[in-house]
Amino acid sequence: MKDCIFCKMIEGKIPCNKIYEDKKTLAFLDINPINKGHTLVIPKEHSKNILDVNQKDLDDVSETVRKLAPKIKKAVKADGINIMSSNGEAAGQAVPHLHIHIIPRFKDDGLEHWKGKSYEEGKAEKIAEDIKSLI
Ligand code: AMP
Ligand code: ZN
Repeated sequence: MKDCIFCKMIEGKIPCNKIYEDKKTLAFLDINPINKGHTLVIPKEHSKNILDVNQKDLDDVSETVRKLAPKIKKAVKADGINIMSSNGEAAGQAVPHLHIHIIPRFKDDGLEHWKGKSYEEGKAEKIAEDIKSLI
């Protein structure tokens, strides 16, 4: 897609630190890593995010994530891995081309987990029903 930075990467028009490529997916180092080895996996076919992607492209991305995550963990001697994706601007998605973050984690890396909230009495049941009614 025109003006998409990750599509340009796939076309080789802008450089990236590529670590893996196959017919359907590309993986490269994040330019501003949360920790060393922080990698992005993207489909070669443009889609905005997980709410927009077709199942086959998501399956291919998922396969690549599964292939690379243990190798990345081993290469940087990480203690764990976060796998995440931001979908929509409100969720912090800055680049509108689907990407899965593989983020190596270390016991002493100082990153804090999001703080959980609580439901008011009866609210969880209502929200569960609202979601289930749409499935
Ligand atoms: P998100 O906030 O989930 O959309 O993440 C976008 C990610 O893309 C950020 O972590 C950026 O550091 C990363 N990024 C943006 N431009 C580049 C680039 N040219 N090469 C590698 N990573 C990039
Ligand atoms: Zn794109």
